[in-house]
Order: sequence, then structure tokens, then C-alpha cells
Amino acid sequence: MIKNPIPWPNGAKCAACVTFDMDADSLIHLDYPTDGNNRVSAISMLRYGPTVAVPRIVETYRRLGIRQTFFVPAWCMEQYPEAVEAILAGGNEIGHHSYIHENPVGQTREDQAHWLDVASAVHVRMTGRAPRGWRAPLYNFSADSLDLLLERGFAYDASLMGDDVPYLLESRATGERLVELPSHWGLDDWPQFVQSMDLDYMMPIRAPSDGFRIFAEEFEAAYLYGGLWVPVVHPFATGRLARWHVVAQFLEKLRERGDVWFAPMEEIAAHVRHVIATGDYQPRIERIPQYAAPVGKALPRR
Ligand SMILES: [Zn+2]
Repeated sequence: MIKNPIPWPNGAKCAACVTFDMDADSLIHLDYPTDGNNRVSAISMLRYGPTVAVPRIVETYRRLGIRQTFFVPAWCMEQYPEAVEAILAGGNEIGHHSYIHENPVGQTREDQAHWLDVASAVHVRMTGRAPRGWRAPLYNFSADSLDLLLERGFAYDASLMGDDVPYLLESRATGERLVELPSHWGLDDWPQFVQSMDLDYMMPIRAPSDGFRIFAEEFEAAYLYGGLWVPVVHPFATGRLARWHVVAQFLEKLRERGDVWFAPMEEIAAHVRHVIATGDYQPRIERIPQYAAPVGKALPRR
């Protein structure tokens, strides 16, 4: 089913990293720059993430003896330093997730570079290290994003959806390459669990076990065929009491199998580079951006 399966460490059947994007209330202030502070209930829903869910999640990881990755906008790191401390205390990774969830596809290259650097400085100040990985807010990876990440020495990206296993992004401009650790919308918790008029996102909310079933089935396929399982979830949604109860039980069962490699994204990316260097893995390589110019320009109008 997978043409070029990757050898995982110690004969593991698959790699697993539950990635929590701790967006907190950045979304409200971005959508409502002039009156976001007036939307008290929406803010309370989103603040549940850093204040209640993150301590719960990192405690589960501690109990299970695993370390994972959180992607956090720098503005949220500044607003919720206790959440940052709790994440780091467990040995978990914090990846770059913009300054305040701004959209790179709508920015000039200069603006993108500016806010990437402003946010990276917050990471250095609060975590003691430059971030190794990036996830674009709302998967909004732009035609400039790859070159900006390569210029800054990032080790991996986690925004794209182009494969079941890690692959390489090759810059159309420079030929340099970056490890991509892909996921997809089927592993995102918004379609299952998020309903918010303020955020203009209204999905029928599923029972925790029903909503999680899609993640579990994705896992079983990754386990069977040697894939990569990267849920893209959010503390305010998947970290709610009943939902996290279901996820924590599932993770516990996976630990008991003994052949699932749980690791932070930076360690998975390092492993990918290692097995490429030793010749044990031939990754697929995709040139980015896929097109050098807008394709529709030369086509007939509809
Ligand atoms: Zn996000």
C-alpha cells in the first residue's frame, strides 16, 4: 500500500505524534481586531485550552512516559507562560505556529519573514532554543514559506498533506530540501468537534467516541502499513474532559502494544534525515511551490 515504507527505529510498526496546536484565543483577536475583547464566552471556550486542557494532556503524557509536540503561536506563549512551562517540563517540543495565527498566504514575503522572526525570538526567549519545526496556521503554507524556513535553518515542516509517510520539499528557487511530516484534514479535530458562531465554523458535534473513531481507524492503517500518524488537534477541542478521556485510554492501549514509536516531531524529522543519509530510505521529493506561476492566467475564462 505504501511504495517506499520508511524503516522506523527499533523495528517499530509506525511513528506516532499527537500534535496539539494551542491556538487559544488568538483566533478571536485575529478575526475581531476591534472588539474581540468583548466576546467573553468565545474567549472562555478557547482559554480552556491553555488553562485546563494543557495541564491535563501533559500529565497523561507523563503517566504514559511519552513526549510529543505542541505548535503554539508566539502571542499565545506570551499570554500563557504557565502552559509553556508545563509543556516543556514534560520534555515535549514546542514548534513555531506563527505570531498570532496570521495567514501567510495573504501576506507579502517581507511580512511573512518579519512575523516568522518576531515569533522565533519569543521561542528563543521562552524556551531557550530556536524552534525546529513549523506548522502554518490553518495549513496556510504559501509559495514563499519553504524558502523562508530553509533560510532560517528549520529542520521540518508539518503543514502539508502530500503523502502517508515523510517526504522532502525541494525549493524551486534554490534546490535545497526540507523534511515534510504530513497530516491531513481527516486527522484534524475541528470537523468532528468544533462549533462556534464567533469563529464562523458550525459542525454537528459528535460523541467523543464517534469523533475519535476516525483517528483510531487512521492509526490502524498507519500501524498496518508502516505510516506516520499525526493527529492535528487542539487543546480547547480534544482536550475537553470526555474527549481526552477517550484519547488517553486509546494512547494507553497503544503503549501496551510496545511497537509504536511515540516521539516529538523534531526527533521523527531527525530520524528521517538519518535513514536518508544511510541510504535506508528513498523519500519522495516534491518541488515547492508546485507551480511557478498562476496556472489559470493562460487558460480560457469560465
Ligand atoms: Zn492553529
